[in-house]
Amino acid sequence: TKIISFESSADETSVAIVEDGRIILSNAVATQINSHQRFGGIVPEVASRHHIEWITRVLDDALEIANVKPTDLDAVAVTYGPGLVGSLLVGLMGAKTFALAHNLPIIPVNHLAGHIAAANFNAPIIYPALALMVSGGHTELVLMREENNFSVLGETRDDAAGESFDKVGRLLKLPYPAGKTIDEMAHLGQATIKFPTAMAHEDNYDFSFSGLKSAVINYVHHAEQKGELINHNDLATSFQNAVVDALLGRTRRALQNYPVKSFVLAGGVAANSQLRQTLAELLEQFPNTQFIPVPRQYTGDNAAMIGAAGYWNYKNKKFAELNLNTDPGLDFELFKS
Ligand code: ATP
Ligand code: MG
Ligand code: FE
Repeated sequence: TKIISFESSADETSVAIVEDGRIILSNAVATQINSHQRFGGIVPEVASRHHIEWITRVLDDALEIANVKPTDLDAVAVTYGPGLVGSLLVGLMGAKTFALAHNLPIIPVNHLAGHIAAANFNAPIIYPALALMVSGGHTELVLMREENNFSVLGETRDDAAGESFDKVGRLLKLPYPAGKTIDEMAHLGQATIKFPTAMAHEDNYDFSFSGLKSAVINYVHHAEQKGELINHNDLATSFQNAVVDALLGRTRRALQNYPVKSFVLAGGVAANSQLRQTLAELLEQFPNTQFIPVPRQYTGDNAAMIGAAGYWNYKNKKFAELNLNTDPGLDFELFKS
């Protein structure tokens, strides 16, 4: 089964062709980061315009690289949420047009399910599974009792994990998005500053990162007022330790309470080297649970992951009509257990 997939929820325009949800025939990605960097974040209006300019080019690339004709394809998968409405609409219209032109069914895909499905590019997810989905806009601990079934155990009450990296990055005047740079700086520094791990003792699976962000901001402003120099690498190490600690604590509790066959680490922040290392070590204490982090190159937004999640829906014949609309606030749609 060959699925062509469209992703345009934020600042990446991407089209991919994926076979049976696991074999990537092509994954064309155009990123607009350079256009947004001087604003320190994504400007929605600018993002939509870029998607419009690039989507046909990216589509041509995906078909050419895969060396696949439209008649070889079985379905069109598309991200319909969550994300920026103006951005989502471009990918959605591209997908609909392609589906109409080539008489193919449309598969609606949740972007967050896509991030998780990208673990299948590493090794097949075995169920039941737990997933930690950490991205620029979301932080979710998810139980999957079976394929394509999501129960949210906990999520962030304020900032997302990636958002906290980006906000601390802005404070340190690092280019947006700052996660990768902070990750690199953290290797060079030492954990000299003690930041609080939010809600460490609370008996739930939720996260909170705004307190940590405020603590970092206060620390920097305080030092500036006193005219003290701050070692930015030490600050990066200390901050990153606090984020990883918070993610680790909740993950450990979930693994203890839900004996699952595999554990997935997904989302843009899953690229973080310390997080990958720390969770790999934690999983050694759970020999019956296989650690399946998303391969680094597929942690950020890409259409291949949408093709992987699209295949789950394809198998369940979960297709959409041509009047499919975007759902910018789409969640896992499920109860919190
Ligand atoms: P969402 O998926 O919630 O809609 P998004 O698509 O914008 O949001 P992603 O593209 O999945 O988010 O992830 C981007 C985030 O990942 C950014 O916040 C970025 O700073 C962060 N990130 C990327 N690499 C790293 C890294 N090595 N360490 C920490 N964070 C990272
Ligand atoms: Mg992005
Ligand atoms: Fe994303």
